[in-house]
Amino acid sequence: MTTQVDLVIRAGRVLTMTPRDHVIEDGAVAIGDGRILWVGPSVECEYTGEREISAPGSVAMPGLVDTHTHVGAHFFGTLCDEENVITAVYDVWFPMELEWDHDSMYAASCLGIWDALRNGVTTVANDQYHAQAAAEAADRLGIRALISREINEFSADPTPRYDRDALRYDIEFDRGRAEEGLAENLQLIADWKGHPRVTPCLGPHAPDLLSGEMLQRIAAEAERYDCKMLMHIAQSQAEIQQIRERSGLDGSLVYLDELGVLGPRVQGHHMVWLSDAEVELAASSGMGISWTPTIMMSCQSFARIDDLLRAGARVGFGTDCFSMDMLEEFRYAIYAANFVRGLRSGYRLGALDLVEMGTARGAECLGLSDQIGTLEAGKLADVILVDFDDPLIIPATNAFESLVYRAKGANVTHTIVGGTIVYESGKLLLADELELLEAGRRFARAWIGRSRDLLARAGVLDRIEPAYLAGVRESGSGG
Ligand SMILES: [Zn+2]
Repeated sequence: MTTQVDLVIRAGRVLTMTPRDHVIEDGAVAIGDGRILWVGPSVECEYTGEREISAPGSVAMPGLVDTHTHVGAHFFGTLCDEENVITAVYDVWFPMELEWDHDSMYAASCLGIWDALRNGVTTVANDQYHAQAAAEAADRLGIRALISREINEFSADPTPRYDRDALRYDIEFDRGRAEEGLAENLQLIADWKGHPRVTPCLGPHAPDLLSGEMLQRIAAEAERYDCKMLMHIAQSQAEIQQIRERSGLDGSLVYLDELGVLGPRVQGHHMVWLSDAEVELAASSGMGISWTPTIMMSCQSFARIDDLLRAGARVGFGTDCFSMDMLEEFRYAIYAANFVRGLRSGYRLGALDLVEMGTARGAECLGLSDQIGTLEAGKLADVILVDFDDPLIIPATNAFESLVYRAKGANVTHTIVGGTIVYESGKLLLADELELLEAGRRFARAWIGRSRDLLARAGVLDRIEPAYLAGVRESGSGG
């Protein structure tokens, strides 16, 4: 006697991630009402699915959790990539993001979320302006998302200027801007609270880009609305310098602790420039940490990942504004960590550590470990299938090693969020791909057109091909 359910997946291997290295050969996952009903060896499965997926050459595993993204930043393309990103943030990113509006951010966010889903990412923690647009895009394309509205207090007129020789910048605060950002963020919470997949959060950008008073107010709101704060922390030497000048304290984390802001509600992205005491504080505070090695390498820096893990900190993986192919990013991460940090301390990060950071630990960071991150009965059915019948992956002697050293996002064949298949065999299922591409091209062109003068000032215009610029002129710069 078998029980009929919505979906049954049979895969050559099922990685439950609980315990973390558990592999079920010829496994099955039964799904009903958006949740996992049963996981175990296929021969013992007493469920039949209204839909059945049989993938003997594939691995079924928890959907990947990307703990730090800006899905709308797909519109920057490569505009920030040839420079040290820290410089590009001041010269290009801060001024150019003021030229966004809701519709262009929606078009950009759809591209970013599409990229996430096709790479097996089922959850993002996303921070950006026009957060309503990101939430709408997440709702439409079917991804699970924590979404915050990035709140800044620095003056937008002009935005802070960076002195690349002195590794510092000057900042002027504009309380009105921060108030406006907070009000928009609170509206986002009011609008999306209770949504099954979109969880609104607060987005204080970084300890140096807001006043201490504002940081404390946002932390109080996070308490009141019982939500996470997505915050960039210790991302540059310029930030630490600002904090020192402002507070006399030696680091962003001690500063946040002194303000009473630090705690489990904080999801700290990057966390590179930490003192020994702050590494301990990162662990003892119960905060979540997004390890984002690729973007930090582009800033010529690298987090103390070995020390953070040894101290017992909660570390998840983040791709920031880069490709959302987490499997490929794992590869950069493991080679770089074992080179940069391994050379210093003999530490060796393993493939299993990366897969765990990308699933169960990522979920734990975001406060979602009772819902996602592992394949267990009762959890939400966020599941992906990764095809190991691939010339690069065979013989696949170890599933975790094959995922980290060999697989790419292109090997992901199915992305399932809350029991709904949202991406299958190269296709987005809940949105029209051609429509998203067309809107993406059109809005990006108009946005780059509006930003022409500042791109010229930042010396980036010379890197844009003449044919593209001609198109920008034709499409006008008015929007
Ligand atoms: Zn970021």
